[in-house]
Amino acid sequence: MENYTLLKVRLYDDPCLREEAKPVKDVGASERLLIQSMIYTMHQMQGIGLAAPQVGISQRIFVIDLGHGPFVFVNPVILKKEGGLAMDEGCLSMPNINVNVVRATKILVKYTDESNQKHERTFENLMARVIQHENDHLNGRLIIDYA
Ligand code: ZN
Repeated sequence: MENYTLLKVRLYDDPCLREEAKPVKDVGASERLLIQSMIYTMHQMQGIGLAAPQVGISQRIFVIDLGHGPFVFVNPVILKKEGGLAMDEGCLSMPNINVNVVRATKILVKYTDESNQKHERTFENLMARVIQHENDHLNGRLIIDYA
């Protein structure tokens, strides 16, 4: 983690937050640099998740850290959803706004990591919630859409 930079987080009226992000062809040096910078920016902003469109980059990448170290998701696809729970959510792109959102409590996700390894894994509870929130960003969807 040496070549990172602090990225500018776009706010809710920025059009890049409403675009459908493009699939990543291959995780190479430039993608890894972006991922490192996204993790750094997420930590600096004290967020628990950050998606590439939030820093103005239309790529299907997001990072999450619930306090146990970062997770990187490239080209994620949610294959299965179970359960439903309402909870207030915030967003780095919407400071001071909280929206009550119903999310699945258990999900099966297919994704690639920062080393180009493919995974298929089940996530539950808060991790499942944050994945669904960040995945919405890749589809141009924001929490205010649930209000
Ligand atoms: Zn968000």
